[in-house]
Amino acid sequence: WCSCDCSFSDNGDLSSSQMYLYQRRLPSDVVPLHYDLDLQPNLTTLKFTGSVKIMVNVTQVTKKIVLHSSGLNITKATITSSGGSQEKAVELLEYPLHDQIAVIAPESLLAGQNYTVNLEYSSNLSDTYYGFYKISYKDENSKQRWFAATQFEPLAARSAFPCFDEPALKATFSIRIKRDEKLSTLSNMPKVLLYGNFSSGIVQDEFFVSLKMSTYLVAFVVADLKNISMETNGSLVSVHAIPQHINQVEYALNTTVKLLEFYEKYFLINYPLEKLDLVAIPDFQSGAMENWGLITFRETTLLFDSNASSARDKKLITAVIAHELAHQWFGNLVTMEWWNDLWLNEGFATFMEYFAMEEIFPELHSDEDFLNLIFKAMMKDSLNSSHPVSSAVQSSEQIEEMFDGTLEYSLCIPVLLVLGLTLLMLLALGMGRHLQCYSFQPYGCGCYCVTQVALFYCIAILRPDIDVFYCLNRN
Ligand SMILES: [Zn+2]
Repeated sequence: WCSCDCSFSDNGDLSSSQMYLYQRRLPSDVVPLHYDLDLQPNLTTLKFTGSVKIMVNVTQVTKKIVLHSSGLNITKATITSSGGSQEKAVELLEYPLHDQIAVIAPESLLAGQNYTVNLEYSSNLSDTYYGFYKISYKDENSKQRWFAATQFEPLAARSAFPCFDEPALKATFSIRIKRDEKLSTLSNMPKVLLYGNFSSGIVQDEFFVSLKMSTYLVAFVVADLKNISMETNGSLVSVHAIPQHINQVEYALNTTVKLLEFYEKYFLINYPLEKLDLVAIPDFQSGAMENWGLITFRETTLLFDSNASSARDKKLITAVIAHELAHQWFGNLVTMEWWNDLWLNEGFATFMEYFAMEEIFPELHSDEDFLNLIFKAMMKDSLNSSHPVSSAVQSSEQIEEMFDGTLEYSLCIPVLLVLGLTLLMLLALGMGRHLQCYSFQPYGCGCYCVTQVALFYCIAILRPDIDVFYCLNRN
């Protein structure tokens, strides 16, 4: 892809006709540090309003700040310089084809300085299971109820709030959500406090500042939920469901706690958040999504009814939880630098899913499924259409295509095949180092991101007797 800077001239007099100059990738002269996000979803009108204050750091003098926004009606845009309190009006340009907006400052933004971009906006809750979306379901009295949740991976955070929506552009997030007092909200982090005018029936939940994270992992849920919880090693694990299904969450809670304890021991890195929520959503497109601290599931991949569910259901639920929990390390703590290396997330989470299941739940015989998966991969890899695990992707269409289900597996599994089982075990050994290398030390841009090549360097240092680059290049 082209990672060159956007070709704006910095004379500040851009017209909309010059917007074709935008590159698909965001320019590197402005990076986000922190988001203050306020949201007010309305489950009656099915719309939401929001305001976001994004603190950014300018790395090269410029007059423009280019970021993502999709389908948002931006009603106010200003900029504040660091230390200053005066909001200055800005010109706002939009380029919907690339989901981009540009904030044009009245004067040059200086290198090394921080600024805050303030944006107010409104939009509709989506009905596509993507972005900030709504779904309806029937409660125990057959009354229609609404449930709002998010699914941002890969490119939909930009449709819930303007942001620098690329995985390497990590930042911290403070999220506040207004809601009806009868509903609950959840987000990545635990709640700090609840305030509001209780007589009006509207209250506001504020969540703790997050760790540095990618935008695609931000999540929130507003719904009528019940939960059960258990504490393990300093983290509170809770499983949430709509009230009529709360009697089906116990298996998921026990399984999650066992797997979390296993991963903490195996990776030698504790799960870094004080809480982990798993939510069963009555209607959800994919099997589950690994949002940091708030994993969302389709009901059939989380709820287990001891009277009605089968052994096969139990295996599916266990596998999905094992996979999403592995992502809390592979993907969330250490993230691929760009979508071309999605296999680093999905390949490792898939491998760890089977590995953890075999260790903790041998009675489920997931080793048989693993073999099955390998044979399927061999068949796929023998087709002319097979392709390298790390593929060049740039456009939104190419990135979204990687998540269409069939491609995701064909991306991940040939890795297991090409590298071979011996190397796979070596990868498992290298993982600890991979996580240690990149989770706590700034890499490049100062965020915890990794590329395929960087990972293989890590393994090469661990095992100089094996030519890992030979194996890699064979693909
Ligand atoms: Zn995954």
